[in-house]
Formats: sequence, C-alpha cells, structure tokens
Amino acid sequence: MPKHILSGLKYLAVIELRKLAFSTYDVAEILKMDRSTVSHYIHDRNLSSNSIEVAKVILDLCPQDSFKMIYSLCQDKHLTFTILKYCLNNPKITIKNTCIGCGVCVDACIMDALEIINLNSKVNLDFCCGCLLCSENCPTNSIEILEVE
Ligand code: SF4
Ligand code: SF4
Repeated sequence: MPKHILSGLKYLAVIELRKLAFSTYDVAEILKMDRSTVSHYIHDRNLSSNSIEVAKVILDLCPQDSFKMIYSLCQDKHLTFTILKYCLNNPKITIKNTCIGCGVCVDACIMDALEIINLNSKVNLDFCCGCLLCSENCPTNSIEILEVE
C-alpha cells in the first residue's frame, strides 16, 4: 500500500506539472519516473482512485506532517520537496530584523533552505517546503510564514 500511496502523490504532482506545461519527458525527469508511467497518469490509466484520495489527504495535512509522511514513503528528501513544491502553494517567509543570527533555524531546517549571512538568517525559497520547523524553533520569533496552503 505505501507504494500505491506514493504513486498517488506522484500522480497529483504529474497533473500539476502538466498544468505548468512541462513535457512528459521533463515530468519524468523531475519526478524520477519512467515516461510510460507519466503518460499513463496523464491519461488517467493504471492508478486506483483510492491511492489518489489518500494522497490528497496527506497533502491536506500541515506541511510539516505532509513532509514527514511523504519522506517516510519515499526516503528521498529531494523527491519529497518536489512533490510538495508542485502540489502546494509556495510559502512566503519573512525574517524580521529581530533575528540574532543564532543559527537554530538553520539546524532545524529539513531542506537546507536557510543560511546565516552577516548574522542574519536568509531563506532560499527554491528549497523551502513550508514545514514551519524554523519558525517553531526560533528563540526570538523572528520568522513569519506568511502563506502556506
Ligand atoms: S533561529 Fe531565529 S534568531 Fe536564530 S538565526 Fe534563525 S531567525 Fe535568526
Ligand atoms: S519552513 Fe523553514 S524549516 Fe521548513 S523548509 Fe522552509 S525554511 Fe526550512
């Protein structure tokens, strides 16, 4: 069953990538799938509706729990991030000037999306999955996640 759930998640990511006009070849590369499977998904073949429904439930969890669930299914951080990136809205993060550069958020970040530059935390949104771990661990409450859906 876990394999089918991961397939459901990949299916949802395939649909989102196709909406963005990625080619079948590119979708297969991005999601580490073979092209024939991508083609089947695009044409709604070979995937149970149950797998898709369970995948939607996982994506409806808070981003941190979605990350944990997907990562436990695939054991692949990059693939987990890719699925979240294309299936959820991008988070918008602001780091306030109360940041003291302690680096706690950098250590907490599961995606290596943060770094300390000139005693301030900087986020690379290209790698952020919106898991909220940084803001939950920041001792000065300096990280605001403005939008995560
Ligand atoms: S944990 Fe908070 S105070 Fe520390 S570096 Fe990160 S944003 Fe700044
Ligand atoms: S929300 Fe914070 S901890 Fe989570 S991936 Fe983004 S920067 Fe890293």
